[in-house]
Amino acid sequence: MKRSVWPVPDSDVEVRDVRGLMRPYAEEQLRAIADRAEVDGKFPRHVVDDLAKLGALGLGFPTDLGGSGGSYLGLCVAVEEVYRISPGIAASAFMSPLIAYDILQFGSTEQRERYVPAILDGTAVAALAVTEPDAGSDVAALRTTARRTAAGWVLNGQKMYITNAGIADLMLVLAQTPDEGPRSISAFVVDMPAAGVTVDAKLDKLGWRASETNGVTLDGCVVPEDAMLGSPGSGFTLVMTGFNLERATLAAGSVGLAQGALDDAIDYTVTRTQFGRPLASFQAVRHSLASAAAEIEAARQLTYYAARLIGTGDDGIAAASMAKLVASNMCQDVARRCLQVHGGAGFMKEFRAERYYRDSMIMTIGGGTSEIQAEIIGRQLGLREQPGKQPK
Ligand SMILES: Cc1cc2nc3c(=O)[nH]c(=O)nc-3n(C[C@H](O)[C@H](O)[C@H](O)COP(=O)(O)OP(=O)(O)OC[C@H]3O[C@@H](n4cnc5c(N)ncnc54)[C@H](O)[C@@H]3O)c2cc1C
Repeated sequence: MKRSVWPVPDSDVEVRDVRGLMRPYAEEQLRAIADRAEVDGKFPRHVVDDLAKLGALGLGFPTDLGGSGGSYLGLCVAVEEVYRISPGIAASAFMSPLIAYDILQFGSTEQRERYVPAILDGTAVAALAVTEPDAGSDVAALRTTARRTAAGWVLNGQKMYITNAGIADLMLVLAQTPDEGPRSISAFVVDMPAAGVTVDAKLDKLGWRASETNGVTLDGCVVPEDAMLGSPGSGFTLVMTGFNLERATLAAGSVGLAQGALDDAIDYTVTRTQFGRPLASFQAVRHSLASAAAEIEAARQLTYYAARLIGTGDDGIAAASMAKLVASNMCQDVARRCLQVHGGAGFMKEFRAERYYRDSMIMTIGGGTSEIQAEIIGRQLGLREQPGKQPK
C-alpha cells in the first residue's frame, strides 16, 4: 500500500527540509545495508561519510566550524530518520556529534578548531567514555584517575559499554582529578589509538547489533596538558550538559524506531489475511496501530520541543529528560504491539519486527535510565528524597 511520508504534515520548515533530505537516503542507501550490518554485528563506517556529505552530522552546529547551521532540532530529525531504518547504525553514527557538542560548549579555540570540523566532516569518529564497572547511573562514583605529571596527564582506570571505542579517532574520557580538589572530575580528549589504552573485545548484545560496544582499559595513558576539556573539576557539569543533547537525540531515536516498527506493521496487516480479510480490517488490530500512531506523534512533538531548547540558553534539562522518558517507554510499548500484530512472523528473523523489539530495550537504559530521568524531572519540580521513618 502506498502511504504518504507521514500522515501528520511537518509544520516546521526545518523539520520538513531535513526529513526531505534524510528519508530518501535512509530508504535507498541504508535500507540496502542495514540487514547485513545487523547480521555481521559491524558498524558500516562509510555511513559516517555519507551522513557528513549530506550535512546531517553538522545540523545545529555553526557553519564556521564546518556545521550545517540551523538548530539541534534538525539533528534530532536526522537521527529519527536513521533510527527508523536501523537503530544500531544510528547509535554509532550519531555518537560523534554529541562529543563535538561537548567540545563546542567547553573546548578552547584550538580544541574546537581541531576536533569539531573533523567530526562533522566525517574524518573523525568519536566515543564518550563515562561508564565504569562501579559507576553507571551514579556517574560521580567513577574511579578512573588523571594525575598531572611533568609529561602531561596520566590516565588510569576501566571504562565499560563504550559505543564506538573500537573505531574511534578520539575519545572523551571522564576521570577523577584528585590533585585538583576533593570530588574533582575532569574531562579529557584522548586521540586514538593511544599508548596505554586497550580496547577490549566487542561485546555481544541483545540489540543495537550494528553498533559496536567495548570495554576500555586505561593503563598509564599519557595525554598532553592541553588535552583537558574545560577547566579542572568541570567534567561532571560538562557531561551533564552534553547529556541534554544526547537525551533529545535518544528520544528522537525512540520516535524513529517506533515509526519504523509501525510502518512495517501497517504494511504487514494490510496484506496478511485471516478469516478471509486483511488483519488491519479487524478493529482490535486497527485500533492498536492507530493508538500507536497517536502515541508516536505525541512523543515526537515533546522531543521536538526539547530539541528546540538545546543551545538556546534555556538549559532544557527537564524537557530533555521528559522527552527521553516518554519517548523511550512509548517506543518499547509500540515495538511490542507491532511485533504482536505480526503473529508468529513477528518472532522470526525474516521480519524486522523482532529487531525493532530488541533494539527498543536499550532506549530506556542508554544515556541515563528511565528511573534516572524520573529522578531528574523530580528534582526540577523541587521533589527530593527526605530522610524519614520506614513505614511499618
Ligand atoms: C549498548 C550500550 C551502549 C552504551 N554506550 C555508552 C557509551 O558510549 N558511553 C558510556 O559512557 N556509557 C555507555 N553505556 C552505559 C549506559 O549509559 C549505562 O548502562 C546506563 O547509564 C545505566 O548504568 P548501569 O548499566 O551501570 O546500570 P545501574 O546504574 O547499575 O542501574 C541498574 C538499575 O538500577 C536503577 N537505578 C540506579 N540508580 C537508581 C536510583 N537512584 N533510583 C532508582 N533506580 C535506580 C537503574 O535505573 C537500572 O534500572 C552504554 C550502555 C549500553 C547497554
